[in-house]
Amino acid sequence: MLSFATDESRRLPVRIIEVSPRDGLQHEALFVPTARKIDLINALSRSGVTEIEAGSFISPAAVPQLADSDEVFRAIDRVPGVTYSALVPNERGLERARAAAVQKIAVFTAASDSFTRHNIKATVRESLVRFTPVIQGAKRDGMLVRGYISTAVWCPYEGRMAPQITLDVMRRLLDLGVDDISLGDTLGRASPADMRALLDAVMPHIEPVRLSLHVHDTYGMAVANVLTAWEGYGITAFDCSAGGLGGCPYAPGASGNAATEDVVFALKASGAPIAVDEELIVDCARRLSALTGHPPHSRLSQVPPSHIRQPVLKV
Ligand code: MG
Repeated sequence: MLSFATDESRRLPVRIIEVSPRDGLQHEALFVPTARKIDLINALSRSGVTEIEAGSFISPAAVPQLADSDEVFRAIDRVPGVTYSALVPNERGLERARAAAVQKIAVFTAASDSFTRHNIKATVRESLVRFTPVIQGAKRDGMLVRGYISTAVWCPYEGRMAPQITLDVMRRLLDLGVDDISLGDTLGRASPADMRALLDAVMPHIEPVRLSLHVHDTYGMAVANVLTAWEGYGITAFDCSAGGLGGCPYAPGASGNAATEDVVFALKASGAPIAVDEELIVDCARRLSALTGHPPHSRLSQVPPSHIRQPVLKV
């Protein structure tokens, strides 16, 4: 294991990218009413998270659950200091995002060709060609762009991905002008050892503040991976979802995203400066549970409320 974290990196505020309104709700069978989505995002906005993935401008025929993203973006309270982002697959989606005054878009590819073929019907190379005008158009309009790399560690079709392959995709996205990269353990299969092998390979090629980790908890290793990345590599941004809502339809068996409240609790308990109120996140997880009809996946939602809260830090 190489050493990337320093005392200084461990003093940097940790940022949470809350993905439940998009990554979470997209995988639910039912359509959550627009007003409930707006309430959820407004509640998340007050929890201390830095960024909220609030919707998606993918064709409503492909993802009907998020067909109302235009309306959602127009109605939410935009809290200063919080960035509201959306998934954008093509130029038509970018037009919709622009009309809804979206500040940051996300384009999505993967390390594995087999996965991108199933997910977006393109090879990785084709996906990058497709995204090029989207990224250029967004940058021209002053939007920030995030690049998702799914199957960064394991692929449901190809097995373990060599770190070099993920690094190659990351470098190509950075060359296209993407501002930050989210590395996804889509399958939730990565161990801390896998994560170290990946981060050893990618960290020399990106500033740590531009990198986020998007882990899933299928095998119960999500929080361990977050702590490995923060403590050992100076990574300070994590994608997670209140109540662990989410999954991946193309990754058989993949359970939810890392639960925001569990990630926040573990980081805070480890001394990370993080200004998120985990009790407010548990409230949001319960709100989501009432909407979706299934209980939160998180550990913290099972702890008696009076035992949850640690000090909310000002960072
Ligand atoms: Mg996810």
